[in-house]
Amino acid sequence: MRYDVVVVGAGAAGLAAACLLAKQGKRVALVERHRYLGGRAMERRFRGHQLGLGSHLVEDPGDSLTRVCQFIGLNLEHSERSDSMPFWDRNRWRPIQEFYGGSGKQGLKRCIHALNETSYEELDRWDHASLREWMSQYTKEEGVYLVWEAISILEQITDKWYDHSASENLYVRKLHYERKRTAGYSFWPMGGWEKLWKQMADRFVELGGTIMQPETVERVLVEEGRARGVQLRDKDPERPLHGEGSGKRIEAENVLVNAPVWDLPKLFDDGVLPWSLLERVRMLANNRNKACWLGYWIAAREPVIASSQREMASFAATPRTGLGGFTLNFTGYDPGVSPPGEYLTCVGAAFDATQHYGDRPWIERKFRDLWLDIEEMLPASKGALWKKPHLVTTYGVVNKPGLVGAVRPDAWVREIEGLWLTGDTTRSRGIGVDKAARTGITACESVLGSRLPFFADTVHY
Ligand SMILES: Cc1cc2nc3c(=O)[nH]c(=O)nc-3n(C[C@H](O)[C@H](O)[C@H](O)COP(=O)(O)OP(=O)(O)OC[C@H]3O[C@@H](n4cnc5c(N)ncnc54)[C@H](O)[C@@H]3O)c2cc1C
Repeated sequence: MRYDVVVVGAGAAGLAAACLLAKQGKRVALVERHRYLGGRAMERRFRGHQLGLGSHLVEDPGDSLTRVCQFIGLNLEHSERSDSMPFWDRNRWRPIQEFYGGSGKQGLKRCIHALNETSYEELDRWDHASLREWMSQYTKEEGVYLVWEAISILEQITDKWYDHSASENLYVRKLHYERKRTAGYSFWPMGGWEKLWKQMADRFVELGGTIMQPETVERVLVEEGRARGVQLRDKDPERPLHGEGSGKRIEAENVLVNAPVWDLPKLFDDGVLPWSLLERVRMLANNRNKACWLGYWIAAREPVIASSQREMASFAATPRTGLGGFTLNFTGYDPGVSPPGEYLTCVGAAFDATQHYGDRPWIERKFRDLWLDIEEMLPASKGALWKKPHLVTTYGVVNKPGLVGAVRPDAWVREIEGLWLTGDTTRSRGIGVDKAARTGITACESVLGSRLPFFADTVHY
């Protein structure tokens, strides 16, 4: 069978694009190498808890993943939103509001007003500056910087809180103020991630799509400047074949690749990708540009929190590690993620990949110190039923000035007809899963060659 589009990868972006294209009547094949769906936003069960491994909360105010679901007839139920924002100040938690009293309020108002007056297009000019540089036009108060930088710590895995990209942050702030009248909006998908990805995949099949899973795309086939389809990896002849088309060539008019930049080059024969694109992809994929994180999942008989169950608690530096990060009590958003009477929290911190990527002794030391810090900052953790450390080196490309916006590959690979890219490491705005879904919409529209009216009022390229 010949397809209109073959989508490589069933991450948030690939699933979103595949569903939209199928809904638009395209014959679509979706190829995923893993047995699970959702890519980095997959969910795993551990001792009766649902761990949304790569996706804690979504920052979609209603116009990316939520809108995609609406379009294909699914209801993505948002959890209740957060109710407080404690910030760690040397030796105690303080409500974020305490940091910008008096004249600070005026400074914050000036920033919000200026942001409302600035168009999304104008924000593109701030790709090479930090959030702090933009804010310093309107205020000189540290407490005001802190409010938006604390939100940044919660949203972006950037090791230095003062070095977050202005454009990335301001897009999200503007969007959330416009849509939800709040600085930061996030939710847990009720029921969890596995359920959501499965629902999307089922809907995709109902819309006529074909899922090939687990199947690995070995090569994207490009001949005479045109994408022709994909070559699947041959499976071990000793093992039974899974799914349709093992080792086969899948013919398609268009190939839409959801693999992140670090997986992209190996899908192409040498010399196929335009050199300028390849060089950019290699630069972005460099380990030193990866957002890195170390943290613990903690299950306990009482909530491991700073002040309230649905808080968004963050810190610029823990007492021993000196690293900035956040803590999140999932059970407060969706009690169904844990067995009755148990609570699930994640606490972690970002670290600088340029200095510490692959530095095992340093990382092990930080894990030890982080646990001591957690016990000090969140005393309920001392009674933990279990704790599970996790090290993340594939969160994404770090959102630092100079590494966002136009430097990232567009959906459209100009030099190769019928080849398209999607995913959070391509050019887009937003946070994590929200950003990935936004690129899925852009990629679908690029393939179709026209805007989808249903998404006309959403922010995407
Ligand atoms: C630990 C962690 C915590 C995170 N926390 C959050 C959070 O709190 N909130 C948030 O919004 N985001 C969070 N993120 C980021 C979020 O998970 C990602 O931004 C998002 O899932 C990226 O989706 P994507 O579709 O762009 O890419 P991916 O999820 O990477 O999808 C790519 C897909 O392509 C498949 N693929 C690749 N190569 C091939 C091939 N050759 N053949 C077939 N299939 C292939 C992969 O298996 C994968 O399924 C977190 C990430 C991590 C790792």
